Amino acid sequence: MPPARITVEADGRLNVPDVPIIPFIRGDGIGVDIWPAAQAVLDAAVAKHAKRIEWLPVLAGQQAFDEVGTWLPEQTVTSFRDHVVGIKGPLTTPIGGGFRSLNVALRQLLDLYVCLRPVRWFRGVPSPVKRPDKVDMVIFRENIEDVYAGFELEEGTDGAKRLIEFLHGEYGWDIRADSGLGLKPVSVTGSKRLVRAALHYAVSHGRRSVTLVHKGNIQKFTEGAFQKWGYELVRDEFADVAVSWDDCGGKPGERVLVKDTIADIFLQQVLTRPDEFDVIATTNLNGDYASDALAAQVGGIGIAPGGNINYVTGHGVFEATHGTAPKYAGQDKVNPGSLLLSGVLMLEHLGWQAAADDVVRALEATIGEGIVTYDFARLTEGATEVKTSEFASAIVDRL
Ligand code: NAP
Repeated sequence: MPPARITVEADGRLNVPDVPIIPFIRGDGIGVDIWPAAQAVLDAAVAKHAKRIEWLPVLAGQQAFDEVGTWLPEQTVTSFRDHVVGIKGPLTTPIGGGFRSLNVALRQLLDLYVCLRPVRWFRGVPSPVKRPDKVDMVIFRENIEDVYAGFELEEGTDGAKRLIEFLHGEYGWDIRADSGLGLKPVSVTGSKRLVRAALHYAVSHGRRSVTLVHKGNIQKFTEGAFQKWGYELVRDEFADVAVSWDDCGGKPGERVLVKDTIADIFLQQVLTRPDEFDVIATTNLNGDYASDALAAQVGGIGIAPGGNINYVTGHGVFEATHGTAPKYAGQDKVNPGSLLLSGVLMLEHLGWQAAADDVVRALEATIGEGIVTYDFARLTEGATEVKTSEFASAIVDRL
């Protein structure tokens, strides 16, 4: 079969050929170590199911800057857009390069409005809590709006002074003259499409509940509105398959239960009673904090995967959630698990569930046998520490 592009149906469903062309950014720093490891495992897993991926290298980050003089070449964005699905390693954040963050720029340019962060424990992974096995959540974090929209004015600038004066004149708000300012836009459109994606996921994956996590007690017209619009959506579009707590008294029957929690209480409850949470839908900044806090709870900071998805256009860019860890670059030492499990999310997005399941099983078997990279080895008595490449080979052997 010759390699071909993935195409998208009008309803967002993907047509995936047997040999799809998938662009990838190797990534800076430890990208040189974890990309080949992740690719080897993904290639072996899909080969088992008579498929192949034609990997198309594209540039971003330090490597792009060094080779073509720009941090995020237009061609890279176009390639991700044209090929629909892509994957990336970690990128150096340019200091003063005109970008707040390359990752945020990519999400905004491709309108990847869901940041998907599944959080679960793998047997054998050292965790700081007693029962990490009780954590099995899938976080849908809004990925475009909120304080990440990038509307900020620096303290002391003309713009900041003018806005402070305007807000005083228009609303009587007394903001200290030496303040920096940031805007937090949260829209009906952005909130509803995020919650819609979470509900579709919950229904199609047989999940029990969706929790709307917000800070609506303080930020009524952004966070509070997110909660309100979420419940509206349940009633308007999902009444046959989902129901809010208030509408069923906590007894949803066969339907998915939709409830909500204030963000700070959520962070307590995921520690004290994690098994009460399932799919989480939340605004951008809450989601940022919650995904890393939850990843830490299952010992998974080094292996937490992420996907940035637009379920309407079908576009998805899957990525390692950690950074470039420059001090370890080129040492064949670090854990490739985050990029590999992001590859698993990518396989699931392609509809290649059997290959995705194989990788997860083989990874679990490897860690379960105590074969781990340095980060887990230092926390696990009796573990066998292996290099990045050896870890990948061990997973391939267990596929
Ligand atoms: P980092 O690269 O995530 O590294 C922090 C620490 O996390 C490492 O020193 C290491 O801990 C651990 N770690 C990270 N990746 C690991 C892996 N694969 N296996 C095992 N341990 C791992 O964070 P940073 O040092 O703050 O950031 C470095 C650069 O990455 C910056 O330019 C930052 O902007 C960028 N960044 C990029 C992304 C992204 O592209 N998604 C995300 C975050 C940061 P120990 O030293 O304790 O072993």
